[in-house]
Amino acid sequence: MTEPSADFHAFSARLGKDPLRVQGPGGNTSMKIGDVMWIKASGTELADAETKPIFVAVNRAAAQAEAAGEGDGSCKDTVIDPANTLRPSIETTFHAALDWPVVAHTHSIATLVHAISPEGRKVAIEKLADLPAVFVPYAKPGLPLTREILARVTSDTQIVILENHGLICCGTTVAETDEIMQQVEDRLQMPVLTDTTKAATTAMTGFEAVGESWIAHNPRICDLALSGSYYPDHVVFLGPALPTADHAENPPVIVKPEQGVYLRNGATSSQRAMIKCLSDCLSRLPADWTAEPIGTDAEAALLNWDAEKYRQALAAR
Ligand SMILES: [Zn+2]
Repeated sequence: MTEPSADFHAFSARLGKDPLRVQGPGGNTSMKIGDVMWIKASGTELADAETKPIFVAVNRAAAQAEAAGEGDGSCKDTVIDPANTLRPSIETTFHAALDWPVVAHTHSIATLVHAISPEGRKVAIEKLADLPAVFVPYAKPGLPLTREILARVTSDTQIVILENHGLICCGTTVAETDEIMQQVEDRLQMPVLTDTTKAATTAMTGFEAVGESWIAHNPRICDLALSGSYYPDHVVFLGPALPTADHAENPPVIVKPEQGVYLRNGATSSQRAMIKCLSDCLSRLPADWTAEPIGTDAEAALLNWDAEKYRQALAAR
């Protein structure tokens, strides 16, 4: 079985090491070689692409069949090596269904700033107007999202903006995929628009006051952080929205308005990455753009999902 090329590993690792593209175990890349598709395994990190075996080989046709509705959509039965204990990414079906040799999916901050906002989405449509891009409304990662993607792409589509989620780019080669993704990043790039220097003014026992404490001191942004979740990985790693006080379920992050943002001692690197993600995203949201949460039904669907629990458990190790 032919392994993916060195440039694919390097590209994957570079995306994984950039917190403005990928946070913690989020994002995934794939490469199709003949009948085989190599896809990032669930719970692994793209940043490790050059140092650890994070990719798993699946039967491309079988994964495509799952994307079309056969099986449960997890693609766990499409893994070629029966001795392999890694599960393919929960997003394997869209990688299989997109008919391009290289597919890369990130939770790009530049994309997210536009994709969580109704005003931002309109701006992004204009910024990407001459590129082969489509916009896909929010759907739960896995088969529901794959169905929404497949309903909108054509054979020419190379850019998919996932509303309230992220970015997918496709290409014939790694270089082409990298280039088109960079083009999207350049066009959607947003400056930091808020004062992010304000530190926490109080301490909290059992918690660390984090560098993202500015959120608590900006009334508009604090309100946004407390009133909803804007993309799936926030819910998966931090729970729905953010609470203002500790409670029985031991929330990893607490926001005390006008005081600070607090990360529970012993929190995972994924949880730390997700609070930075929220800060990176909301600090770039223009004052005249609103942000649209995914809603409580979508949050509940994410939290009751076995595949996500599996991902949470892996990331916590
Ligand atoms: Zn994703």
